[in-house]
Amino acid sequence: MIYLFFLPVGQSGLGKSTLVNTLFKSKVSRKSCNPSFEEGISKTVNLQSISHVIEEKGVKMKLTVIDTPGFGDQINNLNCWEPIMKYINEQYEKYLKEEININRKRKIPDTRVHCCVYFVPPTGHCLRPLDLEFMKRLGKVVSVVPVIAKSDTLTLDERQRFKERIRQDLWTNGIKVYPQKEYDEDAEDRILNDKIREKIPFAVVGTDKEHQVNGKNVLGRKTNWGVIEVENVAHCEFANLRDLLIRSHLQDLKDVTHNIHYETYRVRRLNESNL
Ligand code: GDP
Ligand code: MG
Repeated sequence: MIYLFFLPVGQSGLGKSTLVNTLFKSKVSRKSCNPSFEEGISKTVNLQSISHVIEEKGVKMKLTVIDTPGFGDQINNLNCWEPIMKYINEQYEKYLKEEININRKRKIPDTRVHCCVYFVPPTGHCLRPLDLEFMKRLGKVVSVVPVIAKSDTLTLDERQRFKERIRQDLWTNGIKVYPQKEYDEDAEDRILNDKIREKIPFAVVGTDKEHQVNGKNVLGRKTNWGVIEVENVAHCEFANLRDLLIRSHLQDLKDVTHNIHYETYRVRRLNESNL
């Protein structure tokens, strides 16, 4: 079984829960019917998680989604990234404690966050200070994948311009998002990842409804112009996000978490040497 921990972050109403449901309903080979819930998975931060087992090409995968309600909903959002940062670090700390234990387990229970999907509101303008602050800080401790939330509310033209603006804002602010150029392993990797980097942030659409299109039931949202099919890459980039998370980059997300983010944490903690 492969475990993937996935953390969607963004203000209320941006479609996080809907997108997670879309992910589980979309064309993944097989899924368990009884998702398991866990409440209060963190002692200091009030977060909840839900896990689904899905099977892709004979490989079983347990995808755990950590819900982060309330992020950025206050009038003063100074430091609102803190509980999320704290949660991520707690998972590294737990792993580290197990690792340096004399009687360490053969297989260390691993709850480290592999990917944080950050939902940018579909304003069509530029990144807000809150978005920049969050990604700047979190990008140093976890793989961050930004997405444009509810992108069906923007025209294709607006989406394209907004994407370019966001990429420019990330660049001028020195913000590193996943997949990072420095960690491309070879030329082949670089070509594949460049294609993804050209598309980041993915313009996503989520839904919990199916509609009939040409006699087939598809996941979609009904609009005045017709149905936006969420799994159709001509309509939005939901499928690109899904494929990145659970297909093409699943192992890489795990490797980057262990070899880069956790390693940075480990070295820092051992240097403090008050374990
Ligand atoms: P959360 O607070 O971020 O978890 O947001 P929800 O998933 O609860 O969604 C909030 C509202 O936005 C609901 O009414 C959804 O139906 C709607 N919604 C979710 N995703 C989309 C989307 O991609 N496009 C549009 N237009 N509406 C969406
Ligand atoms: Mg929600």
